[in-house]
Amino acid sequence: MKCDCHIHIFMDGRNYRSAHDRHLDGVDESCIRSHFEEYKKRGITYVRDGGDHLFVSLKAKELAAEYGIVYRTPVFAIHKKGHYGSIVGRAFDNMKEFAGLVKEVRRLGGDFIKIMTTGIMDFQCAGTITGERLDFSEVKEMVHIAHEEGFAVMSHTNGAEGVREAALAGVDSVEHGNYQDEDSLQALKDSKAVWVPTLVTVRNLQKSGRFPRQEIEKIMVTQNRAVKKAYEMGLFMASGTDAGAYMVFHGESLKQEWEAFEGILEDKEAAAECLHSGNREIIKRF
Ligand SMILES: [Zn+2]
Repeated sequence: MKCDCHIHIFMDGRNYRSAHDRHLDGVDESCIRSHFEEYKKRGITYVRDGGDHLFVSLKAKELAAEYGIVYRTPVFAIHKKGHYGSIVGRAFDNMKEFAGLVKEVRRLGGDFIKIMTTGIMDFQCAGTITGERLDFSEVKEMVHIAHEEGFAVMSHTNGAEGVREAALAGVDSVEHGNYQDEDSLQALKDSKAVWVPTLVTVRNLQKSGRFPRQEIEKIMVTQNRAVKKAYEMGLFMASGTDAGAYMVFHGESLKQEWEAFEGILEDKEAAAECLHSGNREIIKRF
């Protein structure tokens, strides 16, 4: 079974603004359909969305079965006001508001909760993460609330500290997870969370010319090393691309993600075994 465990159906990999604006006067179904066609064409039958704030993924949930796709969505991602995440979701100020958003996901028919606990990589400067990460106590409370409501939690998190704390807080999957160290990998292993390293999200930027090549290269090398280590430690890892993000195209990027894993592990079969088992965990929990 081919699975892309991290996509954003509302984006097109080309231009965030124009993709976003297509849905301003109501969801543009044709864009969802053309992205689903790309998955269908390649036999990709499981897709997990990372959310949007325009209800595009919610509409996609209605249409997915027509394409033979099992599609999971958090409806929107949830971030803290003033922190990273507004491009894919909605904000809370305090735990009461967070709990309200979780209830809103339930009311709208979302499948799980997506939280944002850190920013993203600064592509101008490898090793740095934008913005400020949430406090551990806060993340713990967020995960607790979501779990109490019966939802699994997908966590957008970068940086060793952020990943370690997300794992300790009990998230079910960690997305991206760049710049990890041995402690954070160990925390992931102990918590049995699935790591979705979204390798192509960074790799594909190499061709873009938008960011310094050298910095992209450094971020990649760090992530490759962590994936290799995670494999040796026996962590759950799943295939997710962040399709829709800049230069990451729906459907075709999944093959690129697998190739990236194969290259890092230098063993096709090992990569397949590893990803199949991680993907199974994602399907089971989400
Ligand atoms: Zn994403």
